Amino acid sequence: MSESTEPSLSNLSREERRFEPPADLVASANVTEQVYAEAESDRLAFWESAAQRLSWGTRWDRVLDWDDAPFGKWFVGGELNASYNCVDRHVEAGNGGKVAFHWVGEPEDDTRTITYSDLKDEVCRAANALTDLGVSTGDRVAIYMPMIPETVVSMLACARIGAIHTVVFGGFSADALANRIEDCDATLVITADGGYRRGAPSALKPAVDDAVGRSPGIQNVLVVRRTGQDIAWGDKDVWWHDVVDKASSEHTPENFDAEHPLYVMYTSGTTGKPKGILHTTGGYLVQSAWTHWAVFDLKPETDVFWCSADIGWVTGHSYIVYGPLANGCTSILYEGTPDTPHRGRWWEIVQQYGVTIFYTAPTAIRACMKWGKDIPEQFDLSSLRVLGSVGESINPEAYVWYRDAIGGGTAPVMDTWWQTETGAHMISPLPGVTAGKPGSAMQGLPGIVVDVVDDTGASVPDGSGGYLVVREPWPAMLRTLWGDDQRYKDTYWSRFPGMYFAGDGAKKDEDGDIWLLGRVDDVMNVSGHRLSTTEIESALVSHPKVAEAAVVGAKDESSGQAVVAFVILREDAGDGGPDVVAELRQHVTKEIGAIAKPKSIMVVPELPKTRSGKIMRRLLQDVAENREVGDATTLADTSVMDQIKSGLSSGKADED
Ligand code: AMP
Repeated sequence: MSESTEPSLSNLSREERRFEPPADLVASANVTEQVYAEAESDRLAFWESAAQRLSWGTRWDRVLDWDDAPFGKWFVGGELNASYNCVDRHVEAGNGGKVAFHWVGEPEDDTRTITYSDLKDEVCRAANALTDLGVSTGDRVAIYMPMIPETVVSMLACARIGAIHTVVFGGFSADALANRIEDCDATLVITADGGYRRGAPSALKPAVDDAVGRSPGIQNVLVVRRTGQDIAWGDKDVWWHDVVDKASSEHTPENFDAEHPLYVMYTSGTTGKPKGILHTTGGYLVQSAWTHWAVFDLKPETDVFWCSADIGWVTGHSYIVYGPLANGCTSILYEGTPDTPHRGRWWEIVQQYGVTIFYTAPTAIRACMKWGKDIPEQFDLSSLRVLGSVGESINPEAYVWYRDAIGGGTAPVMDTWWQTETGAHMISPLPGVTAGKPGSAMQGLPGIVVDVVDDTGASVPDGSGGYLVVREPWPAMLRTLWGDDQRYKDTYWSRFPGMYFAGDGAKKDEDGDIWLLGRVDDVMNVSGHRLSTTEIESALVSHPKVAEAAVVGAKDESSGQAVVAFVILREDAGDGGPDVVAELRQHVTKEIGAIAKPKSIMVVPELPKTRSGKIMRRLLQDVAENREVGDATTLADTSVMDQIKSGLSSGKADED
């Protein structure tokens, strides 16, 4: 964003719909309105009470040490074991027979049921095997796996012995894996021969072989046999079934300091090498467990929870592994994609296992919207009582579709704002408290102090836009960037002294509720007005023919930047008809005003997205400005840019 002193982002869109929380949810809600007031009056006492959800070997003597800000310590002096908290204590409480995971493989009828007792035995075996392989406390272990139970087991086994895991998403290349291994000096890689993806086995081991060939620090590669495909075998390779299956299922967990590192998760920076976000044990586990219980109104005895993210992302860490297991609930773990072997696969799984809480990303919701409502209608989804969304702003139209088509018109939608860096939910409605507004993440959670500020760091008044910041430290916050304290300070704490700057634009509406407006790097400046990508995209998605939209600012002689939109149509809209572009431009004018009217709109078959589903607007900007398309290596599907460019040359674009 430019360094102008204009204080805020324009606040253009209006959304009048409101959804009160369902009466039955209110009546038995885990969290009531008064918790906000309690947390506000004594934030640290609130987090101390949240910490009671865990079992501590030694109680902390100071809840927060912020003397060396921005390097914070939570639950100072406390000791605990994350794996014990996620597994053993549930077995000790008599819940060993309870299902921890219903694992669903991508090939149909390939399922496993894993109880808490099963999980404990397997985690203990793996912990013993890791120790036998020479892994000890503080060592780094890279995990490069498909979505199989052994992935969870590997993470918990590391946590159990105090080793630091770094899970690298299985869709990443050998280069990405090698860079991450090198950055954190990992000594072991845990992988599989392959996994199933869109109906076929997809190899993982060759990428590991390539990466390990360049990483002399790796002592061993522990390999799970998942697909049975042929793989090359080197002298560092060890089969999981040879060492883990034969290890003892007895293992006594050691308690570690609350600030002992739990994991490093790499997230791409805008420039340069990926950032290794470091999370530690106590505070991270407290906030992921509390938010999982509060935001989803989790009833561990009866709920069946499903987070559809990949474990390779922070969402999978906090809301497939650590939050749900710390809370002792039953979850679904699904290996595959939503449309294999058919587009109703997710809803079939919801019906079969009686899923009650479902958590996914807006990109997936919009894909389902594009395929049409008749697909979920073929399944009984009446078990669903709370829905969640994460990763991007959920456009109001996608929110309402999700609530209606998936949530039966009654399940409240929790739009959760957070980041790899924040470790756990930060801004979200609460299902038994909040009257939801489609498109708004609403309020900072109890114990979390967020604000929207102008260029000078002053709080903006209600009704205005600016930069999203966090004003006070929070338990699950990143502690630093692995090996780079200075970059940690520069990236997050230098823009506004004393505040964490998240990199997102946001606005407060007239009630003070928060609307996320996209990354500030993506903000457009049209004739001196700062426009948010999110608002214009949401206006486009509210047109009945549009399923997805991405908006960028392209250089323009008269207005500085001009709004250029890329849209994917819903399947039932066909090719949209001859006037679709004019209709959409008109629609944006009506929804938010002439200033936001796209100068051109391109109908495209796909949008460029990262592997975690976020739209890469930078590449679209290259197209809009007729430049050579920049680095596209982090795209989930690298052919997308070719599809977009060939669509353009076939004359779908329209300009004034
Ligand atoms: P990551 O750390 O990769 O999960 O990405 C975090 C970023 O995703 C945030 O800084 C936001 O830009 C975006 N994001 C995540 N959740 C939301 C949400 N509920 N609404 C709007 N943006 C979101």
